[in-house]
Amino acid sequence: IVYLDYNATAPIRPEALAATTTALRTVGNASSAHGPGQEAAYAVDRARAQVATLLGCAANELIFTSGATEANNLAIRSAAGPGCDLVVSAVEHPAVSEAAAEVAAHAGGTVHTIGVYRDGTLRLDELEEALSARPALVSIMAANNETGVLNDLDLVVKLSHEAGTLVHSDATQLVGRLPIDLRKLQLDALSLSGHKFGAPQGVGGLFVRRDTALAIRPLAYGGGHERGQRPGTLNVPGIVGLGAAADAAACHLDQEMVRVRLLRDRFETAVMTALPGTRRNGHPDLRLPGVSSLTFDGLPADAVLAAMPALAASEGSACSSGALEPSRVLLAMGLTRDEADCTIRFSLGYATTTVDIDDAAHHVIDAARRVRAALYPNTT
Ligand code: PLP
Repeated sequence: IVYLDYNATAPIRPEALAATTTALRTVGNASSAHGPGQEAAYAVDRARAQVATLLGCAANELIFTSGATEANNLAIRSAAGPGCDLVVSAVEHPAVSEAAAEVAAHAGGTVHTIGVYRDGTLRLDELEEALSARPALVSIMAANNETGVLNDLDLVVKLSHEAGTLVHSDATQLVGRLPIDLRKLQLDALSLSGHKFGAPQGVGGLFVRRDTALAIRPLAYGGGHERGQRPGTLNVPGIVGLGAAADAAACHLDQEMVRVRLLRDRFETAVMTALPGTRRNGHPDLRLPGVSSLTFDGLPADAVLAAMPALAASEGSACSSGALEPSRVLLAMGLTRDEADCTIRFSLGYATTTVDIDDAAHHVIDAARRVRAALYPNTT
Protein backbone atom coordinates (compact mmCIF):
# COMPACT_ATOMS: atom_id res chain seq x y z
CA ILE A 1 0.00 0.00 0.00
CA VAL A 2 1.20 3.53 -0.72
CA TYR A 3 0.87 5.59 2.44
CA LEU A 4 0.05 9.25 1.82
CA ASP A 5 -1.58 10.12 5.13
CA TYR A 6 1.31 11.62 7.10
CA ASN A 7 -0.93 14.36 8.46
CA ALA A 8 -3.00 11.70 10.22
CA THR A 9 0.11 9.95 11.49
CA ALA A 10 3.62 9.38 10.13
CA PRO A 11 5.48 6.06 10.17
CA ILE A 12 7.79 5.74 13.15
CA ARG A 13 11.39 6.74 12.38
CA PRO A 14 13.95 3.92 12.81
CA GLU A 15 15.83 6.04 15.38
CA ALA A 16 12.62 6.50 17.41
CA LEU A 17 11.73 2.82 17.16
CA ALA A 18 15.18 1.83 18.45
CA ALA A 19 15.09 4.33 21.33
CA THR A 20 11.56 3.38 22.36
CA THR A 21 12.28 -0.34 22.16
CA THR A 22 15.36 0.04 24.35
CA ALA A 23 13.38 2.04 26.90
CA LEU A 24 10.56 -0.52 26.92
CA ARG A 25 13.09 -3.21 27.80
CA THR A 26 14.54 -1.12 30.62
CA VAL A 27 12.98 -0.85 34.07
CA GLY A 28 12.91 2.48 35.92
CA ASN A 29 10.48 5.19 36.98
CA ALA A 30 12.01 8.58 36.23
CA SER A 31 10.92 9.75 39.71
CA SER A 32 12.80 7.01 41.59
CA ALA A 33 16.04 7.85 43.38
CA HIS A 34 17.78 4.52 42.70
CA GLY A 35 20.02 3.71 39.75
CA PRO A 36 17.36 2.44 37.29
CA GLY A 37 15.15 5.44 38.12
CA GLN A 38 18.01 7.84 37.54
CA GLU A 39 18.81 6.14 34.22
CA ALA A 40 15.20 6.77 33.16
CA ALA A 41 15.40 10.39 34.36
CA TYR A 42 18.62 10.84 32.39
CA ALA A 43 16.97 9.44 29.24
CA VAL A 44 14.08 11.90 29.70
CA ASP A 45 16.50 14.83 30.18
CA ARG A 46 18.28 13.87 26.98
CA ALA A 47 14.99 13.70 25.07
CA ARG A 48 13.97 17.08 26.48
CA ALA A 49 17.19 18.58 25.19
CA GLN A 50 16.65 16.98 21.76
CA VAL A 51 13.13 18.41 21.43
CA ALA A 52 14.36 21.79 22.71
CA THR A 53 17.03 21.83 19.99
CA LEU A 54 14.44 21.17 17.29
CA LEU A 55 12.32 24.08 18.57
CA GLY A 56 15.08 26.50 19.53
CA CYS A 57 13.93 26.77 23.14
CA ALA A 58 15.32 25.86 26.55
CA ALA A 59 14.78 22.34 27.87
CA ASN A 60 12.99 23.64 30.96
CA GLU A 61 10.42 25.39 28.77
CA LEU A 62 8.92 22.01 27.75
CA ILE A 63 6.19 19.99 29.40
CA PHE A 64 5.72 16.46 28.06
CA THR A 65 2.10 15.48 27.42
CA SER A 66 0.17 12.66 25.76
CA GLY A 67 0.05 14.64 22.53
CA ALA A 68 -1.16 17.87 21.01
CA THR A 69 -4.77 17.52 22.14
CA GLU A 70 -3.69 17.57 25.76
CA ALA A 71 -1.13 20.33 25.14
CA ASN A 72 -3.77 22.52 23.46
CA ASN A 73 -6.22 21.97 26.30
CA LEU A 74 -3.53 22.70 28.88
CA ALA A 75 -2.61 26.03 27.26
CA ILE A 76 -6.17 27.18 26.63
CA ARG A 77 -7.50 26.16 30.04
CA SER A 78 -4.57 27.85 31.75
CA ALA A 79 -5.16 31.14 29.96
CA ALA A 80 -8.82 31.43 30.80
CA GLY A 81 -10.08 33.42 33.75
CA PRO A 82 -13.61 34.51 34.64
CA GLY A 83 -15.36 36.33 31.80
CA CYS A 84 -12.36 36.10 29.50
CA ASP A 85 -12.57 36.10 25.70
CA LEU A 86 -10.54 33.82 23.47
CA VAL A 87 -9.57 34.14 19.81
CA VAL A 88 -9.13 31.18 17.44
CA SER A 89 -9.21 30.79 13.67
CA ALA A 90 -12.07 29.18 11.78
CA VAL A 91 -9.78 26.38 10.59
CA GLU A 92 -8.34 25.17 13.90
CA HIS A 93 -8.29 21.48 14.75
CA PRO A 94 -11.13 20.52 17.15
CA ALA A 95 -8.47 20.10 19.86
CA VAL A 96 -8.31 23.92 19.83
CA SER A 97 -11.77 25.02 18.69
CA GLU A 98 -13.67 22.68 21.01
CA ALA A 99 -11.35 23.34 23.94
CA ALA A 100 -11.83 27.09 23.44
CA ALA A 101 -15.61 26.76 23.20
CA GLU A 102 -15.76 24.67 26.37
CA VAL A 103 -13.41 26.91 28.34
CA ALA A 104 -15.16 30.13 27.27
CA ALA A 105 -18.58 28.68 28.10
CA HIS A 106 -17.37 27.86 31.63
CA ALA A 107 -15.66 31.19 32.07
CA GLY A 108 -18.68 33.15 30.83
CA GLY A 109 -16.63 34.60 27.99
CA THR A 110 -16.81 34.63 24.21
CA VAL A 111 -14.80 32.89 21.50
CA HIS A 112 -13.99 35.18 18.55
CA THR A 113 -13.46 33.14 15.39
CA ILE A 114 -11.20 34.63 12.74
CA GLY A 115 -12.09 33.77 9.16
CA VAL A 116 -9.75 32.82 6.33
CA TYR A 117 -9.51 33.86 2.69
CA ARG A 118 -10.18 31.52 -0.22
CA ASP A 119 -6.51 30.49 -0.17
CA GLY A 120 -6.77 29.50 3.49
CA THR A 121 -4.66 32.37 4.87
CA LEU A 122 -5.83 34.24 7.93
CA ARG A 123 -7.99 37.41 7.82
CA LEU A 124 -5.66 39.66 9.77
CA ASP A 125 -8.21 42.48 9.66
CA GLU A 126 -10.58 40.27 11.65
CA LEU A 127 -7.78 39.41 14.08
CA GLU A 128 -7.10 43.10 14.69
CA GLU A 129 -10.78 43.71 15.31
CA ALA A 130 -11.05 40.77 17.73
CA LEU A 131 -7.98 42.00 19.62
CA SER A 132 -9.80 45.21 20.48
CA ALA A 133 -11.98 43.11 22.85
CA ARG A 134 -8.78 42.47 24.88
CA PRO A 135 -9.01 38.67 24.82
CA ALA A 136 -6.98 36.55 27.27
CA LEU A 137 -5.46 34.36 24.56
CA VAL A 138 -5.08 34.11 20.80
CA SER A 139 -4.64 30.54 19.56
CA ILE A 140 -3.75 30.29 15.87
CA MET A 141 -2.34 27.15 14.28
CA ALA A 142 1.06 27.16 12.57
CA ALA A 143 0.03 24.94 9.64
CA ASN A 144 -3.37 23.58 8.75
CA ASN A 145 -3.84 19.83 8.93
CA GLU A 146 -6.14 19.62 5.87
CA THR A 147 -4.52 22.05 3.45
CA GLY A 148 -1.05 22.61 4.91
CA VAL A 149 -1.57 26.40 4.69
CA LEU A 150 0.91 28.29 6.88
CA ASN A 151 0.10 31.28 9.05
CA ASP A 152 2.32 34.30 9.50
CA LEU A 153 2.88 33.68 13.19
CA ASP A 154 5.41 36.50 13.53
CA LEU A 155 2.69 38.94 12.56
CA VAL A 156 0.07 37.24 14.75
CA VAL A 157 2.45 37.49 17.73
CA LYS A 158 3.28 41.12 17.00
CA LEU A 159 -0.35 42.23 16.69
CA SER A 160 -1.42 40.23 19.74
CA HIS A 161 1.40 41.37 22.00
CA GLU A 162 0.83 44.99 20.98
CA ALA A 163 -2.74 44.49 22.17
CA GLY A 164 -1.53 42.92 25.42
CA THR A 165 -2.76 39.42 24.55
CA LEU A 166 -0.91 36.12 25.00
CA VAL A 167 -0.41 33.86 21.97
CA HIS A 168 -0.47 30.08 21.68
CA SER A 169 0.01 28.10 18.49
CA ASP A 170 -0.95 24.54 17.68
CA ALA A 171 2.14 23.66 15.64
CA THR A 172 1.34 19.94 15.39
CA GLN A 173 1.64 19.83 11.61
CA LEU A 174 4.68 22.09 11.34
CA VAL A 175 7.11 20.76 13.95
CA GLY A 176 9.59 18.34 12.40
CA ARG A 177 8.59 19.36 8.87
CA LEU A 178 9.67 22.99 8.62
CA PRO A 179 12.24 24.84 10.71
CA ILE A 180 11.03 26.79 13.72
CA ASP A 181 13.07 28.94 16.09
CA LEU A 182 11.33 29.95 19.30
CA ARG A 183 14.17 32.32 20.14
CA LYS A 184 12.95 34.47 17.25
CA LEU A 185 9.26 33.61 17.15
CA GLN A 186 8.02 35.05 20.43
CA LEU A 187 5.05 32.76 21.04
CA ASP A 188 4.00 32.36 24.67
CA ALA A 189 3.11 28.69 24.14
CA LEU A 190 3.24 26.06 21.40
CA SER A 191 1.83 22.53 21.11
CA LEU A 192 3.45 19.64 19.31
CA SER A 193 2.71 15.98 18.71
CA GLY A 194 5.33 13.29 18.20
CA HIS A 195 3.43 10.96 15.90
CA LYS A 196 3.26 13.54 13.11
CA PHE A 197 7.02 13.45 12.64
CA GLY A 198 8.06 9.89 13.37
CA ALA A 199 7.77 9.40 17.14
CA PRO A 200 5.37 6.85 18.63
CA GLN A 201 1.72 7.82 19.03
CA GLY A 202 0.60 9.17 22.40
CA VAL A 203 3.42 11.56 23.22
CA GLY A 204 3.84 15.27 22.62
CA GLY A 205 4.53 18.46 24.44
CA LEU A 206 3.70 22.01 25.34
CA PHE A 207 6.35 24.73 25.12
CA VAL A 208 5.72 27.52 27.62
CA ARG A 209 8.04 30.53 27.40
CA ARG A 210 9.97 31.06 30.61
CA ASP A 211 9.08 34.73 31.05
CA THR A 212 5.48 34.57 29.79
CA ALA A 213 2.54 35.72 31.89
CA LEU A 214 0.77 32.46 30.99
CA ALA A 215 0.65 30.51 34.26
CA ILE A 216 0.06 26.82 33.63
CA ARG A 217 -2.67 25.24 35.73
CA PRO A 218 -2.59 21.45 35.48
CA LEU A 219 -5.53 19.58 33.96
CA ALA A 220 -5.12 16.81 36.54
CA TYR A 221 -3.81 16.64 40.09
CA GLY A 222 -1.81 13.97 41.82
CA GLY A 223 1.94 14.43 41.64
CA GLY A 224 4.82 16.79 41.17
CA HIS A 225 5.90 15.53 37.74
CA GLU A 226 6.83 18.10 35.11
CA ARG A 227 7.15 20.68 37.93
CA GLY A 228 3.58 20.04 38.99
CA GLN A 229 2.26 21.13 35.60
CA ARG A 230 1.48 17.66 34.29
CA PRO A 231 1.26 15.08 37.05
CA GLY A 232 1.56 11.36 36.32
CA THR A 233 4.40 8.89 35.78
CA LEU A 234 6.36 9.98 32.73
CA ASN A 235 5.89 7.95 29.55
CA VAL A 236 9.62 7.21 29.28
CA PRO A 237 9.48 4.98 26.14
CA GLY A 238 7.32 7.54 24.34
CA ILE A 239 9.42 10.50 25.47
CA VAL A 240 12.74 8.97 24.39
CA GLY A 241 11.11 8.09 21.04
CA LEU A 242 10.00 11.71 20.74
CA GLY A 243 13.54 12.88 21.49
CA ALA A 244 15.05 10.53 18.90
CA ALA A 245 12.49 11.57 16.27
CA ALA A 246 13.17 15.25 17.02
CA ASP A 247 16.89 14.65 16.68
CA ALA A 248 16.50 12.80 13.35
CA ALA A 249 14.07 15.42 12.02
CA ALA A 250 16.41 18.27 13.01
CA CYS A 251 19.36 16.54 11.30
CA HIS A 252 17.58 16.00 8.00
CA LEU A 253 15.10 18.89 7.94
CA ASP A 254 16.74 20.94 5.20
CA GLN A 255 17.07 18.04 2.74
CA GLU A 256 13.70 16.53 3.64
CA MET A 257 11.86 19.78 3.07
CA VAL A 258 13.19 20.15 -0.44
CA ARG A 259 12.84 16.49 -1.36
CA VAL A 260 9.26 16.24 -0.06
CA ARG A 261 8.23 19.45 -1.83
CA LEU A 262 9.58 18.17 -5.15
CA LEU A 263 7.73 14.87 -4.69
CA ARG A 264 4.50 16.67 -3.82
CA ASP A 265 4.83 18.91 -6.88
CA ARG A 266 5.54 15.89 -9.08
CA PHE A 267 2.38 14.22 -7.76
CA GLU A 268 0.23 17.32 -8.31
CA THR A 269 1.54 17.89 -11.82
CA ALA A 270 0.88 14.29 -12.83
CA VAL A 271 -2.63 14.21 -11.38
CA MET A 272 -3.74 17.68 -12.47
CA THR A 273 -2.44 17.21 -16.00
CA ALA A 274 -4.18 13.86 -16.45
CA LEU A 275 -7.43 14.92 -14.78
CA PRO A 276 -8.68 18.26 -16.10
CA GLY A 277 -11.07 19.92 -13.64
CA THR A 278 -8.95 18.98 -10.61
CA ARG A 279 -8.32 21.98 -8.37
CA ARG A 280 -5.73 22.49 -5.67
CA ASN A 281 -6.81 24.03 -2.37
CA GLY A 282 -4.79 26.43 -0.30
CA HIS A 283 -2.14 29.03 -0.98
CA PRO A 284 0.22 27.69 -3.67
CA ASP A 285 3.40 28.67 -1.81
CA LEU A 286 2.46 29.33 1.81
CA ARG A 287 1.85 25.69 2.66
CA LEU A 288 3.66 22.69 4.08
CA PRO A 289 5.90 20.92 1.56
CA GLY A 290 4.16 17.55 2.01
CA VAL A 291 0.45 18.37 1.70
CA SER A 292 -1.80 18.34 -1.33
CA SER A 293 -5.52 19.02 -0.99
CA LEU A 294 -7.22 18.30 -4.32
CA THR A 295 -10.85 18.75 -5.36
CA PHE A 296 -11.94 16.35 -8.10
CA ASP A 297 -14.73 18.04 -10.02
CA GLY A 298 -17.96 16.02 -9.60
CA LEU A 299 -16.23 12.97 -8.10
CA PRO A 300 -17.14 12.20 -4.47
CA ALA A 301 -14.01 11.63 -2.40
CA ASP A 302 -15.40 8.50 -0.75
CA ALA A 303 -16.00 6.90 -4.16
CA VAL A 304 -12.52 7.77 -5.42
CA LEU A 305 -10.88 6.51 -2.21
CA ALA A 306 -12.89 3.28 -2.35
CA ALA A 307 -11.72 2.79 -5.94
CA MET A 308 -8.05 2.88 -4.91
CA PRO A 309 -7.61 0.57 -1.91
CA ALA A 310 -3.86 0.38 -2.55
CA LEU A 311 -3.49 4.07 -1.61
CA ALA A 312 -4.01 5.44 1.91
CA ALA A 313 -5.13 9.08 1.81
CA SER A 314 -7.81 10.98 3.64
CA GLU A 315 -11.18 12.47 2.87
CA GLY A 316 -11.81 16.19 3.30
CA SER A 317 -14.67 15.30 5.60
CA ALA A 318 -14.84 14.32 9.22
CA CYS A 319 -17.06 11.60 10.54
CA SER A 320 -18.88 13.04 13.51
CA SER A 321 -21.77 11.37 15.33
CA GLY A 322 -22.15 8.80 12.59
CA ALA A 323 -22.83 11.34 9.83
CA LEU A 324 -20.27 12.49 7.30
CA GLU A 325 -19.92 16.22 7.80
CA PRO A 326 -18.23 18.33 5.17
CA SER A 327 -14.84 19.70 6.20
CA ARG A 328 -15.19 22.90 8.29
CA VAL A 329 -11.81 23.97 6.98
CA LEU A 330 -12.80 23.79 3.32
CA LEU A 331 -16.17 25.45 3.97
CA ALA A 332 -14.43 28.27 5.85
CA MET A 333 -12.28 28.79 2.74
CA GLY A 334 -15.44 29.26 0.69
CA LEU A 335 -15.72 25.87 -1.01
CA THR A 336 -19.27 24.62 -1.49
CA ARG A 337 -20.43 21.52 0.31
CA ASP A 338 -20.23 19.58 -2.97
CA GLU A 339 -16.67 20.76 -3.57
CA ALA A 340 -15.70 19.80 -0.01
CA ASP A 341 -17.23 16.37 -0.52
CA CYS A 342 -15.09 15.90 -3.64
CA THR A 343 -11.82 16.74 -1.87
CA ILE A 344 -9.02 14.37 -0.89
CA ARG A 345 -6.00 15.21 1.25
CA PHE A 346 -2.74 13.56 0.27
CA SER A 347 0.10 14.03 2.75
CA LEU A 348 3.60 12.71 2.38
CA GLY A 349 6.78 12.89 4.38
CA TYR A 350 10.27 11.79 5.24
CA ALA A 351 9.96 8.17 4.05
CA THR A 352 7.98 8.80 0.84
CA THR A 353 9.86 7.79 -2.32
CA THR A 354 9.60 8.73 -6.00
CA VAL A 355 8.23 5.24 -6.68
CA ASP A 356 5.50 5.84 -4.07
CA ILE A 357 4.57 9.10 -5.72
CA ASP A 358 4.44 7.69 -9.24
CA ASP A 359 2.37 4.73 -8.03
CA ALA A 360 0.07 7.05 -6.10
CA ALA A 361 -0.49 9.30 -9.11
CA HIS A 362 -1.25 6.23 -11.21
CA HIS A 363 -3.81 4.97 -8.65
CA VAL A 364 -5.52 8.35 -8.37
CA ILE A 365 -5.76 8.91 -12.12
CA ASP A 366 -7.05 5.41 -12.72
CA ALA A 367 -9.57 5.55 -9.84
CA ALA A 368 -10.87 9.00 -10.83
CA ARG A 369 -11.36 7.89 -14.44
CA ARG A 370 -13.25 4.77 -13.36
CA VAL A 371 -15.49 6.72 -10.96
CA ARG A 372 -16.18 9.32 -13.67
CA ALA A 373 -17.07 6.62 -16.20
CA ALA A 374 -19.43 4.99 -13.68
CA LEU A 375 -21.14 8.23 -12.63
CA TYR A 376 -21.28 9.98 -15.99
CA PRO A 377 -21.44 7.15 -18.58
CA ASN A 378 -22.64 9.39 -21.40
CA THR A 379 -19.79 11.87 -21.31
CA THR A 380 -16.39 11.33 -22.81
N1 PLP B 1 -3.78 19.63 16.14
C1 PLP B 1 -3.65 19.37 14.83
C2 PLP B 1 -3.47 20.52 13.87
C3 PLP B 1 -3.65 18.06 14.35
O1 PLP B 1 -3.51 17.82 13.05
C4 PLP B 1 -3.82 17.00 15.29
C5 PLP B 1 -3.86 15.60 14.84
O2 PLP B 1 -4.64 15.20 14.03
C6 PLP B 1 -3.96 17.32 16.65
C7 PLP B 1 -3.93 18.64 17.03
C8 PLP B 1 -4.12 16.25 17.69
O3 PLP B 1 -2.89 15.71 18.01
P1 PLP B 1 -2.74 14.43 18.96
O4 PLP B 1 -3.10 13.26 18.13
O5 PLP B 1 -1.31 14.42 19.35
O6 PLP B 1 -3.63 14.63 20.14
